[in-house]
Amino acid sequence: MSRVPLGQHFLVDAERAAAMVASLGARPGMVVEIGPGRGALTFGLAAAASRLLAIEKDPRLAAALRRAFAGRERVEVRCADALEEDLSACPAGFRLVGNLPYAVATPLLLRWMRLGAHVADLTVMVQREVARRLAAPPGDPARGRLSVLAQLLLTAEPLFDLGPECFDPPPRVVSSALRLAPRPRPALGAAELPGFERLVARAFARRRKTLRNNLPELSAAAWDAAGIDPGRRAETLSVAEFLRLRAAADSAQV
Ligand code: SAM
Repeated sequence: MSRVPLGQHFLVDAERAAAMVASLGARPGMVVEIGPGRGALTFGLAAAASRLLAIEKDPRLAAALRRAFAGRERVEVRCADALEEDLSACPAGFRLVGNLPYAVATPLLLRWMRLGAHVADLTVMVQREVARRLAAPPGDPARGRLSVLAQLLLTAEPLFDLGPECFDPPPRVVSSALRLAPRPRPALGAAELPGFERLVARAFARRRKTLRNNLPELSAAAWDAAGIDPGRRAETLSVAEFLRLRAAADSAQV
């Protein structure tokens, strides 16, 4: 097993667990749950969903859940690392749910954003800090790669916050439940996304440096064409400005 911590802070607040499940509506269809743990959300999800796939990395927890759901045809418990699971193999329109392990919440969200409209929505609990980064506007010090990509590809609706006392063992941080949904008409198609992601990652690579320092291959003409001052820092750029920068970089063929 990898050394990445499993973030096993189990939800013990039954009201919040029920609220999370109820937020999906009475007939959520197919649900994929990430990190079911001891099943705080899983039993409610299994009762409501037409089909449930629960992906748990910890073999002991996965085995216990398998025993609990033995004979339930509509429930599959898969022992796997969600970072390696290809969810595009799930039927289109599935709903993703999870109280996400803190250590991998950001890479998981970045991965799932690439699913586009294949996933109907994502109802997740994350560290409040991650929720803030998802929403951080230009100029906010919390703004980063996650903010730009999320704002390009997703809409976000806050559900509720959860204090440390809602979990066992209690984490040191406050958590937020939120619903993310793919934008119906994102400004970039799937084929253009990898190039855009690389540009954004490089623009933020050294956060204290200017755009000119982080993207030295862009010519003065490219900065002019994008209408962006290369003396700015990446966190000050809007999504629209990043899209202009990508178009300018593409036409300069960098
Ligand atoms: N859903 C449960 C709850 O709300 O009580 C558990 C949530 S706990 C914060 C995160 C769960 O994700 C743990 O059960 C942990 O073992 C599991 N987990 C951690 N990393 C994982 C990964 N990469 N793939 C799948 N599950 C993972």
